[in-house]
Amino acid sequence: MCGPHLLHDINHSHPEPMRSDIRQPEAQVTMRPCPNCGTAVQEDFVFCPHCGSEILNACPSCHRAVQTDWMRCAYCGADLLAEKAAPAPHSHS
Ligand SMILES: [Zn+2]
Ligand SMILES: [Zn+2]
Repeated sequence: MCGPHLLHDINHSHPEPMRSDIRQPEAQVTMRPCPNCGTAVQEDFVFCPHCGSEILNACPSCHRAVQTDWMRCAYCGADLLAEKAAPAPHSHS
């Protein structure tokens, strides 16, 4: 039996639409790993939403994330040095 071989020509040259809409990320959120559980959390998160550990220093007044070298909260103006400067319970002398 000799049947004619029909070669199915697969047409794989379908026209591609020209795409010129290049998406650019607008607000890139900086992530950082939680020091406790390692989950990537937002950089300005004070607490890790996954394990609940404190990641950043929080303002004692408005509870927003503050830097450790700030002397004053940039958001509410609370004195952060007064919070840190705890009186030494034991003085070596
Ligand atoms: Zn965590
Ligand atoms: Zn504050």
